[in-house]
Amino acid sequence: MSKVALYPGSFDPISNGHIDIVKRAAKLFDRVVIAVATNTSKKTLFTADEKVQLIQENVAFLTNVEVVKHSGGLTVDLADELNATILLRGLRSVKDFEYEADIAAMNKTQNNRVETVFLTADETYRFVSSSLIKEVAMFGGDISGLVPANVNKAMKKKYEIE
Ligand code: ADP
Repeated sequence: MSKVALYPGSFDPISNGHIDIVKRAAKLFDRVVIAVATNTSKKTLFTADEKVQLIQENVAFLTNVEVVKHSGGLTVDLADELNATILLRGLRSVKDFEYEADIAAMNKTQNNRVETVFLTADETYRFVSSSLIKEVAMFGGDISGLVPANVNKAMKKKYEIE
């Protein structure tokens, strides 16, 4: 049976930490589907289409990884639609664990067929979050080691730096 993992998130923007999780998951599962949330209540810097494009350019070399937009509904329903039995999430800290364990338990109440699997963040990117990246980039800080090159460029454009 083919093991499909769904990796949902805001990815506003995708960071090297996210990409590290995807690369490792691509070795563990037959297929990895990255789902970009479009219905988030958070105000986003990038549009869903921009996020999908930025992600696609970085995962194109991984033949078993694809990117989709998730425009609403339960994540577990999307998992069913995609025949995914695994929800993939990254864990950076105890703070993440507390939040993520609740979400995993809630998802279980909605769909018992889907299992959440956590990968711990790479040490190098443990402190990296999309929100911190935006804060630093907004004031012209150097985030080049924390995000892929296309994201670095796109952020400079958004904040009209250079
Ligand atoms: P959400 O808004 O759904 O939390 P994010 O885009 O912030 O979406 O993150 C998606 C997933 O990636 C979450 O499981 C999050 O914990 C994980 N993640 C975020 N940053 C990192 C990182 N630097 N290293 C590993 N995992 C990460």
